[in-house]
Amino acid sequence: MTTKLDWLKQEIDGLKEQGLYNRIRTIGSAQGARIKVDGKDVLNFCSNNYLGLANHPKLIEAAKEATKKYGVGPAAVRSIAGTTDLHVQLEQRLAKFKGAEDVITFQSGFTANLGAISALVGKEDVIFSDKLNHASIIDGSRLSGAKIIPYEHNDPKSLEEAIKTNLSNFRRGLIITDGVFSMDGDIAPLPGLYEVAKKYDILFMVDDAHGEGVLGKGGRGIVDHFNMHGQVDIEVGTMSKAFGVVGGIVAGDKVIIEWLRQRGRPFLFSSAVTAPDAAACLAAVDLLEESTELVDKLWDNAKYFKAEMKKLGFDTGVSETPITPIMLGEAQLAQQFSRELFEEGVFGMAISFPTVAKGKARIRVMISASHDRDDLGQGLEAFAKVGKKLGVIK
Ligand SMILES: *Cc1c(COP(=O)(O)O)cnc(C)c1O
Repeated sequence: MTTKLDWLKQEIDGLKEQGLYNRIRTIGSAQGARIKVDGKDVLNFCSNNYLGLANHPKLIEAAKEATKKYGVGPAAVRSIAGTTDLHVQLEQRLAKFKGAEDVITFQSGFTANLGAISALVGKEDVIFSDKLNHASIIDGSRLSGAKIIPYEHNDPKSLEEAIKTNLSNFRRGLIITDGVFSMDGDIAPLPGLYEVAKKYDILFMVDDAHGEGVLGKGGRGIVDHFNMHGQVDIEVGTMSKAFGVVGGIVAGDKVIIEWLRQRGRPFLFSSAVTAPDAAACLAAVDLLEESTELVDKLWDNAKYFKAEMKKLGFDTGVSETPITPIMLGEAQLAQQFSRELFEEGVFGMAISFPTVAKGKARIRVMISASHDRDDLGQGLEAFAKVGKKLGVIK
């Protein structure tokens, strides 16, 4: 007998046959260079914990203190009773840290994109979007109802062509690009894109989730990296990656942030991040303002690991950041590679369609300041062994 759920079973079986079924691992320890995954202690090459802050004593202490004072739950959305003095302080500190006029925070980078994009454009408008933009940009753009016109990846000429052909048919335009592309680790050519935005007087937005705490002086982000303060209208970031906690950031012009406090829907209709979260984020800002040591170590580690992987003969793609893709091609090969790495005590996830294009499957290694040279050495050995066994390198 057939049932109304049969199609789901067929879809899931299809994923398994194509090597696209994601078996989700369970973590049984704090984040760090080594973690317990499905009961096994392994070297961690998967987390976005770029600076090792997710388990930093100062952040933990700040969260504990805030828990004592404010408890654990926000009990409200930001616009009703969920804005504590910690949330206000965090937004002010972030604005100062990033050299922006003002900042609003959301529950995550994902909701920051949904909230910001849908508040700034609507169905009379047009969004020019890099072809490889993150899912949360795509979803936020769809939610806004604006027409979405993709341009070629990191290509200001293609952007300008798209604008020339289409802008006059719409009320307003918005250009959106990832800052650091999360699967390839390349950096958007912000100055070139800005020239186009300026020429046509269009709102310009960058989602710097993987650049926050990584790029720029002491981790101040992509706008700082290119020294483009005041030129990017909306800079989205996250505190869920390098900051080691959770939460989304929108930095920009005062009037934009004021508008998002009125119309950013996740800010109005979904509960705030907790006071302990906000306190931990504040402690992360303290650490980043005090010293560039962690950011420097992250980059040292990333440069070393990438250079050694290239020497071994691996293809690390076009990465310019600590995101290190090991390009493998077919999804099945990437999955097998990941399983073999795990046997060698290394946790490196396979990434394939629909996260990246078909035929571009890879292991994505996330380098962190929490790694030391021994960790990286162990990782390199495991990659060499598995790479030879599977015929990826000689
Ligand atoms: C991770 C990521 C997000 C989502 O951030 P969260 O805080 O995890 O919701 C948004 N945009 C990009 C480009 C990302 O890489």
